[in-house]
Amino acid sequence: MAKKGARELVGMICQTCKSQNYVTERNKVNMAEKSEKSAKLQIKKYCKRCKKHTLHKETSKLK
Ligand SMILES: [Zn+2]
Repeated sequence: MAKKGARELVGMICQTCKSQNYVTERNKVNMAEKSEKSAKLQIKKYCKRCKKHTLHKETSKLK
């Protein structure tokens, strides 16, 4: 069942200081099921540089 290549790594970038603090896996298949045009993820996460929770945006896929 588990197909390889369905997941892709994406970085999460702090929108305040633009530093990439997190790397996460995104499952293309699941994302496609949720909504046809899935907007980029925006999550509030803790940023070490800003020392507070900031909005993190998903970057384009990592290589
Ligand atoms: Zn930051």
